[in-house]
Amino acid sequence: MKGLILADIDIVRMMDTKIDTGFSTQIPAYIDKEGTLSAKSSSVTKKQFEDLQEYTKKLIKQISKEILKGKIEVKPYYKVKQGKTPCEYCAYHSICNFNNGICKDSYYYIGNVNKDAILEEIAKNK
Ligand code: SF4
Repeated sequence: MKGLILADIDIVRMMDTKIDTGFSTQIPAYIDKEGTLSAKSSSVTKKQFEDLQEYTKKLIKQISKEILKGKIEVKPYYKVKQGKTPCEYCAYHSICNFNNGICKDSYYYIGNVNKDAILEEIAKNK
């Protein structure tokens, strides 16, 4: 699985009971030879998780207000480095018409972002 996990070695070992050292085959965790969770893991602290939750709630409120004001443009993200959009996996092409020329080229472009820089920025702007 991809995503973020809590940076807690005990929880990691409960989530993947077969992991000893190295990469987990279940979750985005890497345990080094000393038995600690490595920076190669996709993990955040409890505080960072809480900051992310708070930020997400704030963002949902902001987006909800914008939608209620009539801002309903179709603007999926586009990860520049990977050349990926959510449209690749979406079943609603026929409804939104994004790929039929409507709103063409109006992606929300996401550059190469660093997880730590984002978490730092979120914590700063609470
Ligand atoms: S196909 Fe349309 S609804 Fe689906 S992710 Fe893309 S823009 Fe959004």
